[in-house]
Amino acid sequence: MRLLSPTDVRGLLAAHDLRPSRALGQNFLADPNTARRIVRLAGVAPGDHVLEIGPGIGSLTVALAEAVGPTGEILALELDRHLLPVLAEVVSDQPHVRVVQGDAMSVDYRTLLGAGAAALSWTMVSNLPYNVATPLMARLLDEVPAIGVLSVMVQKEVAERLAAPPGTPACGAISVKVAYHAKAAVVGVVPPTVFVPRPKVDSAVVRFERRSSPPVEVPSADALFTLARAGFGQRRKTLRQSLRPVLGPRAEEVLAAAGIPSLTRAEALTLDQWAALTRAADPPAPSGPAGGAS
Ligand code: SAM
Repeated sequence: MRLLSPTDVRGLLAAHDLRPSRALGQNFLADPNTARRIVRLAGVAPGDHVLEIGPGIGSLTVALAEAVGPTGEILALELDRHLLPVLAEVVSDQPHVRVVQGDAMSVDYRTLLGAGAAALSWTMVSNLPYNVATPLMARLLDEVPAIGVLSVMVQKEVAERLAAPPGTPACGAISVKVAYHAKAAVVGVVPPTVFVPRPKVDSAVVRFERRSSPPVEVPSADALFTLARAGFGQRRKTLRQSLRPVLGPRAEEVLAAAGIPSLTRAEALTLDQWAALTRAADPPAPSGPAGGAS
């Protein structure tokens, strides 16, 4: 199978009179070795069902099609309709690649993947536009349990934040969400030289493996994420201050009940501590009258 070189990428863009859109984060992969490396890092195997978000002109799509073979399937979701004729040309000899035009931020994934798609039955592999990477990963982790393994190439700093364990300096609210849903790790760094046009920064691949059950108990995942967003919304402030918008005057008391010093900052809290805070903010109703029936 022929993968796209820099000459191929430039030639296809020129032949279709296309200029890459900055607004859509169009930096096209133009290096067969990197395309195959990303597929290898993702652990894609023959027969897999793979969702690719933002296939562009197909640089990664062809490598994915090669890896899943005729018994697998690639579902490629691209927003930019101008790219579709090029993509169709590049994958024309790949009957197991299905291209759909749509917006990954708003598409109905149940319909896209099939209402009957079993949990963890899909893999997602994508080179994501930097401006949608974080909200898109949040949406996929929260709402699409059919995707079990997700491997995404993003700006290196974004990759480090996505994979940072809560309680470490690089973490943010998204890191709390990621840690709740998945095990994540940065598995490779990719230089700007392998893209057309070249971005200004390094990229990195993050691999997420969805957990079969959350590692902490909380009354509601939404409550946990709301607290984390508030905490990191003002990350330089102490939690006593940053949690006030959601906990009001109870902030200090809730922190004490969770065993967290009130001068702690959000980036110092581990996932277990975020969970303790969530439970303290929303204690379960007592199961019976005080003193209870004996
Ligand atoms: N996968 C290709 C590659 O590796 O060469 C292209 C990667 S490029 C960084 C990002 C791609 O995502 C572009 O093709 C862009 O048009 C597409 N894209 C941007 N926003 C999108 C969205 N909301 N939904 C689906 N695709 C989107």
